[in-house]
Amino acid sequence: MNKTASLTTSLQPLSLPDFSGIEAEQLISVLRKCELGEGEDILQNFEKDFKKLANVNYCVPVSSATSGLHLALLALEVGENDEVICPTFTFAASAFPILYQKATPVFVDSEKDTWNISPEYLEKAIKSRILAGKKPRAIIIVHSYGNPAKIASLLEIANHYQIPIIEDAANALGSTYNNLQVGTFGTIGVFSFNRNKIISGGAGGSVITNNKVISEKVRYFAHQAKSNLAYYHHENIGYNYGLSPILAEIIRLQLPTLEKRILLRRYQFDNYLKGYHSEATFQNEANNSFSNRWLTVFKYNSKPFPPEYHHVWKPLHTQPVFEKSLYFGNQESVEFFNLGVALPFLRNNIGQ
Ligand SMILES: *Cc1c(COP(=O)(O)O)cnc(C)c1O
Repeated sequence: MNKTASLTTSLQPLSLPDFSGIEAEQLISVLRKCELGEGEDILQNFEKDFKKLANVNYCVPVSSATSGLHLALLALEVGENDEVICPTFTFAASAFPILYQKATPVFVDSEKDTWNISPEYLEKAIKSRILAGKKPRAIIIVHSYGNPAKIASLLEIANHYQIPIIEDAANALGSTYNNLQVGTFGTIGVFSFNRNKIISGGAGGSVITNNKVISEKVRYFAHQAKSNLAYYHHENIGYNYGLSPILAEIIRLQLPTLEKRILLRRYQFDNYLKGYHSEATFQNEANNSFSNRWLTVFKYNSKPFPPEYHHVWKPLHTQPVFEKSLYFGNQESVEFFNLGVALPFLRNNIGQ
């Protein structure tokens, strides 16, 4: 345990928050507004700006992407013994909420172009589970390390089988497909503003959707499942998953700088590409896709993992905690893990 902890902390952090554009008066002002009971107005400003940025009808500010994904499952009424499809090559937080709901993850491996969920394996998984009498209740897709998944093919499959998509766009703010923000293609999209994301409140998240009923359910479960009555009335188990107005304002103040942040990350990606292209394979952008290049990851063509680097995600179907899950694929993500490295985003190296 201790050995692992010291190993990871001795590595350069992958991505740190950048609060440089925020002025002291802006922080004081939000604290004063909270004292005056204006927290709700601050949250509404956040919602308004985020909806505009993502070009979407509804936004619910939440405490994290993990809670946002949990709320997405609650809003879609995923429960005990249901099955939910999820990429195996992702951060565990994409799939933990499936377990919170006592549902079963069905892990699907990646295609080698974008490193995201393979449409081919996805369709195999759906067909196979339908044959077993267990049609999946939802499909979680992830835009890994900011790189959009093959959205057109995934949507076609999901529409054909009539299964809702939840987009874990936690690290993909500013990444687009056909010039539209990823996270707006599925029924629900989820973003993170945790410490290492491209825009950060230290913690935080948001859930977006164009479906009014879904947005209302997400808001309801995020705020202790309080019925709309004059007194406290609860018909369901609720959660305390709302976003603090203080964090909402810290996040909102950074939104206008998103484009500049993406330029820096893409610039650094290009430099890494120049440095390593002869010995490694990088994530490709699919047709009509644009990645924010949140983090650069690559896979050495032959060299084993060098210990001075960060690992990429260890596939979830190989994790002890997900032992009882199903898996469709050909171990592509195991190869990513064995040969892959994640490179730090070094803000100060860019010479802005
Ligand atoms: C960061 C991240 C999460 C978790 O976000 P939190 O806000 O920390 O809960 C989930 N999924 C992916 C793909 C992430 O990168």
